[in-house]
Amino acid sequence: MFGECHAHIFMNGYNYRLAVATHRAAPRESLIREKLKAYQKLGVTFVRDGGDRFGVSLLAKKLAPEYGITYLTPGYAIHKNGCYGHVVGEGFDNLREYEGLVKKLVAQGGDFVKIMTTGILDFDTDGHITGQRLAATEVREMVKIAHDRGLKVMSHTNGAQAVIEAVEAGVDSVEHGNYQTEESLECMAEHPVVWVPTLVTVRNLIGCGRFSDALLEQIARGQRTSLQMAYQKKVSMALGSDAGAYMVPHGIGIVDEQAVFYRILGDGEGVNAHLRRGEGKIHLFTKSS
Ligand SMILES: [Zn+2]
Repeated sequence: MFGECHAHIFMNGYNYRLAVATHRAAPRESLIREKLKAYQKLGVTFVRDGGDRFGVSLLAKKLAPEYGITYLTPGYAIHKNGCYGHVVGEGFDNLREYEGLVKKLVAQGGDFVKIMTTGILDFDTDGHITGQRLAATEVREMVKIAHDRGLKVMSHTNGAQAVIEAVEAGVDSVEHGNYQTEESLECMAEHPVVWVPTLVTVRNLIGCGRFSDALLEQIARGQRTSLQMAYQKKVSMALGSDAGAYMVPHGIGIVDEQAVFYRILGDGEGVNAHLRRGEGKIHLFTKSS
């Protein structure tokens, strides 16, 4: 079984507010153990978290070896105040504060830095990317500060231009990466970056009744085209489902994500080897010194 390269163990897959209420005072260990058990049952031995504000993923990292799981986490994700990201992390106003957050996550036992360079897709309207994207110069500084400390960078990024800017800044993985173009995929192919497209965060919503299926299907078709092109161009890719997000349960999420990859690219040894190599790079998201 492949590892889960993008999960949020503090989330439950159906109700974000409830997840926050549950863990706000202190991480609820019994719930973390339930989710780790779900991974163990499916033979998942590697999980990389995308962050939370309550120390839930840091506790999961401590408990995970009991379930035979290697668990990597940034602790919290880091966003610029006023931009997207509060849902999974802590904010900064300037680079000095950003650096302070990087130091703090290392002190708390985090493995790498998770940054948010854009918003998310707005399924309530037309699927546009919410909020403002960070300036390319700022992203470059953020990546440098992390790399100078021997930390890898996982970047939540949507939109072709933002992907190009993040990749050229040197991020080590791009999460989501919706609305790619041939140019942005080409850029990824030329750099040692891994793309974790989290396809099921869109596909699992089709038919749930909360959003327009026509819109979701249109976005899913775009992802399919990008994925095929990325594979042809030999872009490094890894499976991650954003487990914990709406309609993406822990454990099942990565099984679903694998199924979507297989439907689009086939399930031959070439695809499997490609995904294993991509995941191998995600395994290196631990402090290098
Ligand atoms: Zn995420």
